[in-house]
Amino acid sequence: MYRLSVHDYFSSAHQLKGYRGKCEGVHGHNWKVEVEVGGETLDDVGLLMDFSILKKNLRNLIEPLDHVMLNDVDGFRDRNPSSEHIARHIFDRMSEMLPAGVSMITVTVWESENAKAVYSG
Ligand SMILES: [Zn+2]
Repeated sequence: MYRLSVHDYFSSAHQLKGYRGKCEGVHGHNWKVEVEVGGETLDDVGLLMDFSILKKNLRNLIEPLDHVMLNDVDGFRDRNPSSEHIARHIFDRMSEMLPAGVSMITVTVWESENAKAVYSG
């Protein structure tokens, strides 16, 4: 199997309702998001898919999450915008944007340099 990944960044605020601790209050992160896709078959050029399309799709998905209060964004009004839920959010949407023969492997969301969540379907 061939696997490709791209990453991008966004900055936003969130709060984790129901969490007993500092993260229950509003605070921000500089998030890093990595998307990994995979497939068995390359095209005539030798590509699984075009990196530029993968990057553009990721950018389009994280644009609505950038410089906002994540709790107010559709998809996070009734579930906390935790790193885990952000990874799932991007995974589900990116799945619908992939060409035939390419599927999602993982979405990894870093909320700091030393803390990440991975969703793999
Ligand atoms: Zn946080």
